[in-house]
Amino acid sequence: MSDIRLYMFQSGMQRCKVRDIRMNQGNGEDYEIPVPWFLLTHPKGNTIIDGGLAAEGLADPRGYWGDVVDSYQPMMTEGQGCLAQLAKLGISHEEIRFVALSHLHSDHSGAVGRFPNATHIVQRREYEYAFAPDWFAAGAYIRRDFDRPGLKWHFLEGAATNGYDLYGDGALRMIFTPGHSVGHQSFLVQLSNTGTILLTIDAAYTLDHWNEKALPGLMASAVDTVRSVGKLRALAGQTDAMVVTGHDPEVWPRFRQAPAYYD
Ligand SMILES: [Zn+2]
Repeated sequence: MSDIRLYMFQSGMQRCKVRDIRMNQGNGEDYEIPVPWFLLTHPKGNTIIDGGLAAEGLADPRGYWGDVVDSYQPMMTEGQGCLAQLAKLGISHEEIRFVALSHLHSDHSGAVGRFPNATHIVQRREYEYAFAPDWFAAGAYIRRDFDRPGLKWHFLEGAATNGYDLYGDGALRMIFTPGHSVGHQSFLVQLSNTGTILLTIDAAYTLDHWNEKALPGLMASAVDTVRSVGKLRALAGQTDAMVVTGHDPEVWPRFRQAPAYYD
């Protein structure tokens, strides 16, 4: 048994429309998508990857997230927040050393500032964009999640933009995959028994998107989105990775959910 384990969690679901996930499809039909997040345990300190939606928002969803709840309605309980789920696993909030962020959309920023000893890792350009998003993306960024006093940040830029190896042993690498958002990144996890797991996060919402059969309904750049999928497909081929897409109601339930884990 290895100390390095990947746990998969879900902070409930969101109700949106098919067309939000697969552009121009679904004739206005509703669609319910999982909101995944992850914990990587490691001898050098544990990492939360994303963290789902902020459980604090549930008391007053419109007050917290704004009118975006009309398009993406949270369907979660407070017990599905990241702090509550970690507590259930017996992991205290002090034991989290890093919070690695794929991007700062509100269904990924629920862990920021909740772990007092954590350094938050994000692409510099995502962080800067989150403070001044364009109109079509503005509803996705909830400033109260990431604009908090006393946060420790580590911004990835320059040579660290692509392939940043957090522990220096290949256990967790960050792969720059812009397109869905301007500074989006995906994660390549290396485990001793399972092998490689590629967490595409929102670089590929679903397998349709991965298989180049659909574009997502929200993105910063269609060209970058398509090229980032191409980059990840090449990487998955080279590493023989198990691919975990970002908001995929068909595929997500097939993965082991915490407290089960991959090692
Ligand atoms: Zn997103």
